[in-house]
Amino acid sequence: LLQRKIHSTRLEINLDAVVHNLMFYKSQLKSSTKVMVMVKALGYGSGKHELANTLQYHLVDYLGVAFADEGVELRENGIRTPIMVLTPSPDSFETMKMHQLEPEIYNLELLEALKDFLMEDEGDQLFKIQINIDTGMHRLGFRKEEFSTLLATLSRIKDKVKVTGVFTHLAGADEEQHNSYTLDQIAQFKNLSHQLEEHLGYTVIKHCLNSAGIVRFPEHQLDMVRLGIGLHGIEVNHIKQDDLQTVATLKSVIAQIKTIQKGETIGYGRKGVATKEMKIATIGIGYADGFNRRFSNGVGQVIIKGKKANVIGNICMDMTMVDITEINASVGDEVIIFGPELSINQLAQSIDTIPYEILTSVSSRVKRVYY
Ligand code: PLP
Repeated sequence: LLQRKIHSTRLEINLDAVVHNLMFYKSQLKSSTKVMVMVKALGYGSGKHELANTLQYHLVDYLGVAFADEGVELRENGIRTPIMVLTPSPDSFETMKMHQLEPEIYNLELLEALKDFLMEDEGDQLFKIQINIDTGMHRLGFRKEEFSTLLATLSRIKDKVKVTGVFTHLAGADEEQHNSYTLDQIAQFKNLSHQLEEHLGYTVIKHCLNSAGIVRFPEHQLDMVRLGIGLHGIEVNHIKQDDLQTVATLKSVIAQIKTIQKGETIGYGRKGVATKEMKIATIGIGYADGFNRRFSNGVGQVIIKGKKANVIGNICMDMTMVDITEINASVGDEVIIFGPELSINQLAQSIDTIPYEILTSVSSRVKRVYY
């Protein structure tokens, strides 16, 4: 019985909340604006297949993944929605073309590799690609000074490719202090994407806004937006979104309870010290599940029976001890690590990270349960 309880740590995913949040973001947009949802990193930890199925059902226009493999897995599981691959490697071009995955072409080397691939390719179907323009993120993307080479090369392969989209990524869309930088990025993007369209002689889907951008710069939604963290109901920096619903709740259970005396220590390194007689619960989640070890010894809290319990001592690989002196709890009781009652934002702030990291760190051994 105990074994079963220790292993019942789970991430509960509310798919109705996913749909609710999608509809909320759509309601902020013109009806003609397309939506790409990023389902990379296992759908921000909540399961790319389940999210993709739900999103396909609700007619999302595009999905975004980081790697070709992720896109292939989605195709093999019946996803027909267009998919953009953010960081394609040249050796996966053939696979991507076969599975109708659209690589992001982001620099001259990758463009050359694409040209070489297309020279050898004998298929008569056009290879759909997306172009990333670097307007200030300085991660991936063509710089302004590389633009003429980009255009010339696209001309040489024009019978073999179709540019479906062009985009840029904003470096500080969530923070007001970066507003003028963001607006400058958008202005540069509008100018360069216009040049690209003129050169190609056809229109392409232009997109630049992430979740924060959708809320803060709706006037620049262009043809499509790229929704990520917002789908999960997480408020992005400084933006209050009472209309969102929390998607993921991480839960565990109490495996054992013991009373320890004043002065006794708890866990590895004896970092937790009982300041009085204390009731300690050992819960079945550790850093190997994604409960970050920086939550150790008073930094982190969990919720048991609606009350907050402090982490005491160092978080272990599979278990964590919490102080339940003031809580009337029993073995087997549910423990909430994060969810509507304990926001991921709050947790992230307490260990100086971002909600994205907390969400995507829930490890693969944690069972995902959908409802
Ligand atoms: N677009 C690109 C290129 C991204 O890399 C990401 C996420 O990292 C997003 C959009 C979505 O961003 P957010 O989760 O902040 O909405």
